[in-house]
Amino acid sequence: MSQKEKPGSPDRRNFMKATATGAGILALSGIAPRLADAQALPAKWGAETDVVVLGAGGGGLFAAIEAAAAGAKVILLESTPAIGGSSAICGGDIVFAGTDLQKEKGIEDSNKLLYADFMKAGKSRNVPEMVQTYVDNQLETYEHLKKLGVTYKAVVQGEGSVPRSHRTNPAELIAILKKEADRLGVRTRVESPATRLVTNAEGRVVGVLAAQGGKEIAIGARRGVVVATGGFSNNPELLDELKVGFSKVRSMAAPGCRGDGFIMLAKMGAHMRDLPSLKASFSQHPKSKPGKRQPVNTYRVGSIIINKHGKRFVNEGLGHKDLPEFVLKQPDGISYEVFDSKIAPQAATKSMMIKQEDLELWGIKADTLDELAAKAGVPADALKDSVARYNQYVDAGKDPDFGRDGLIGHVGKLIKIDAPPFYLIEGICAILGTYCGAQVNGKAQVLDVYGQTIPGLYAAGEVLGGLHGDGYIGGTAFGKALIFGRLAGKNAAATAAKKK
Ligand SMILES: Cc1cc2nc3c(=O)[nH]c(=O)nc-3n(C[C@H](O)[C@H](O)[C@H](O)COP(=O)(O)OP(=O)(O)OC[C@H]3O[C@@H](n4cnc5c(N)ncnc54)[C@H](O)[C@@H]3O)c2cc1C
Repeated sequence: MSQKEKPGSPDRRNFMKATATGAGILALSGIAPRLADAQALPAKWGAETDVVVLGAGGGGLFAAIEAAAAGAKVILLESTPAIGGSSAICGGDIVFAGTDLQKEKGIEDSNKLLYADFMKAGKSRNVPEMVQTYVDNQLETYEHLKKLGVTYKAVVQGEGSVPRSHRTNPAELIAILKKEADRLGVRTRVESPATRLVTNAEGRVVGVLAAQGGKEIAIGARRGVVVATGGFSNNPELLDELKVGFSKVRSMAAPGCRGDGFIMLAKMGAHMRDLPSLKASFSQHPKSKPGKRQPVNTYRVGSIIINKHGKRFVNEGLGHKDLPEFVLKQPDGISYEVFDSKIAPQAATKSMMIKQEDLELWGIKADTLDELAAKAGVPADALKDSVARYNQYVDAGKDPDFGRDGLIGHVGKLIKIDAPPFYLIEGICAILGTYCGAQVNGKAQVLDVYGQTIPGLYAAGEVLGGLHGDGYIGGTAFGKALIFGRLAGKNAAATAAKKK
């Protein structure tokens, strides 16, 4: 944006539409010089506070809580009418290691194992400092949430080497955080999208511009600004800019996930990480809607995955973010999960998300594979052949076609599909989150492309890149929001106030 541009100009008001392409490539590549891009200081702040937090999802709420608990005055801006973002509608799984719940269940886990699993999943493309930061702060975050009243309903196996996905009710968790933020005096303003970061002559972030009630307001931040605006699953231009054709994949994220903060951070010269690892997730039922999604995920507990031609095409033991690469290449991007009466109750209890009655409501049930194929409209011979070959592989303990060696996380014994009734349920890929963005250090301070901190600027949650590398362990995105949110708030509050 040019320095001559007037506040409230049409360009500014069209920020959300324009930024994906406007600020796009130059800033993403880190070429855009930070100072030249700086938003001129307003003549007068409309409001001033210690810490301004952008985005009232899990990351922003926890940042606001920690900053306020440390004695800072906090304004929390939320672009949409409702708080919560994707955090409130997510699966609620959070990866923690070494918890009392795991111990109760005899699960041995440690920070060291969690670190190793992160690196393995991310193919060692993760930023070690960010992984270490997650690992070092996760248990404290678990305990803090518990103290606030969050209950962990179960701990289940995810993509890591031991069960460590701690299941929460995400809407309840967000309500608890909001209550705590209110108690601590955080001033939350909904329908108030931040549009620009404001820097002073030294390049320190000293405030934001935001839209409120049709007007632009400048809010000064004496100590710091925390960007926690989530991902950009609902910004088709930006999705396509980073991955050709990606905008066609259905988004299940909250409506406010348009990448506003991602773009602001890119414009500041932040080191944007993990962009090539942008991935969809598998699997959702085609009739799923954001907030009312119907996950399928029965492959986690033993289903095979076939395409419209009735053929297997992938190792079903891969993670939910590695499977889409294969599923999206199938005819019409459609796949079917096929299982039997032994796997069905496992799916209903362990794969998270699905209930026995849902299997019958959303899936197809039949007493024979011929009947199942006919009802689903897939070739019966191909389906029967796929199941027969797979059953042979289970007996032989080796899958020469795709190398499946276990259930989710490559853990657990494969199960033959041979006990009627049989089930088939359609599963498609969806974008739940974008998981790439700005690199931060152990204090959640944003780093620029030269590894220098950008003064006054903190970030948390889905707007961060670098933690996951080229892979993803389910439960670490919500975890990342909460863990880095806490850190960002705490450290922003501890930052020396800018000079007048
Ligand atoms: C359906 C679904 C299931 C998922 N399941 C899991 C799971 O089980 N486990 C897991 O780890 N992860 C899961 N995820 C991902 C996870 O929920 C998110 O990555 C995480 O919650 C993001 O938290 P956040 O605080 O960074 O962003 P969000 O919770 O999305 O919050 C960001 C907020 O910022 C607001 N905002 C955006 N722009 C602006 C602006 N300009 N000004 C002010 N506010 C703004 C948004 O409206 C939003 O309220 C899932 C995601 C989805 C969609």
